[in-house]
Amino acid sequence: ERVIGAESSDEDEAVELSLRPQYLAQYIGQDKVKSEMKIYIKAAKQRDEALDHVLLYGPPGLGKTTLAFVIANEMGVHLKSTSGPAIEKAGDLVALLSELNPGDVLFIDEIHRLAKPVEEVLYSAMEDFYIDIVVGEGQTTHAVHVPLPPFTLIGATTRAGQLSAPLRDRFGIIEHMQYYSVEDLEKIIQRSSMVFNTKIDPEAAIELARRSRGTPRVANRLLKRVRDFAEVKGEEAISLVTTKHSLHLLEVDDEGLDQTDRKLLRMMIENYGGGPVGIKTIAANVGEDTDTIEEVYEPYLLQKGFITRTPRGRSVTQKAYLQLGYPPKNEK
Ligand code: ADP
Repeated sequence: ERVIGAESSDEDEAVELSLRPQYLAQYIGQDKVKSEMKIYIKAAKQRDEALDHVLLYGPPGLGKTTLAFVIANEMGVHLKSTSGPAIEKAGDLVALLSELNPGDVLFIDEIHRLAKPVEEVLYSAMEDFYIDIVVGEGQTTHAVHVPLPPFTLIGATTRAGQLSAPLRDRFGIIEHMQYYSVEDLEKIIQRSSMVFNTKIDPEAAIELARRSRGTPRVANRLLKRVRDFAEVKGEEAISLVTTKHSLHLLEVDDEGLDQTDRKLLRMMIENYGGGPVGIKTIAANVGEDTDTIEEVYEPYLLQKGFITRTPRGRSVTQKAYLQLGYPPKNEK
């Protein structure tokens, strides 16, 4: 398994509950999102209404699920959590919605993967808090109008572009989650090490933060790995030396690139002269599907300036040539 992959794993799930901040004040980073949400939450509470529906989008591991729970806590309501692919039929959605109390949050992760018939039921639920369902068979078939308590839908997606326009338009609040700065990741690492009951030297925390792909989930996962090395060495606090050594063994480089990132870049350089290369070709060569390339790998490589996007495909930059130890690229 990819150590630095931002996708969630079972191991993560077990510790994530304890790592998750409960309130906005403990939620590190994402300052723009936080300050906007603070206002919306305050206004909804003053009016004693359910918060408007919220769409959170951005790469995996940036804290969308965590933020959904924080929002529910701040509103003082319950949260029911599910995911797009888990809601197979319209009836499943009706069951979920009918369990909600007024003001509660329904959190749907991967909302871009909702089945079309389910999505259509969601429209009236979101807009006017009712659903029309068809019950019975044959002669006894009839429509039933079911009113719902006012609720807040929080949808999370890695691909805002894949959401249909009618669904997207029904979210009053749309927030784009950004990669975290090194300073914010350092704070997250310090906080997590307290939760883990481990000490970490400040330089070691900074080093880990720099190599975590701007992603809290990656930071927490690397912290756990590095802690293992430090414990085996009998260190009282995780040191910089141990951090560097373990990241070297995990093949995470000083820019946070891992084997797969490097494989991708090397393939583009060696087989395609640095590009431009189409996304499908990249995916086929690396052995991943195009969605994973576009959602997980590419955003970070773009943000870090290792690749650029051109109308004819992706191109590797000079910075990537140097990072991987190639001679400078021949500019055509
Ligand atoms: P997403 O839903 O975007 O994939 P999660 O909400 O599951 O991401 O977050 C992944 C992990 O990172 C969780 O363990 C969570 O505790 C941690 N995390 C995310 N955002 C923050 C944050 N702002 N402050 C502290 N920890 C965070």
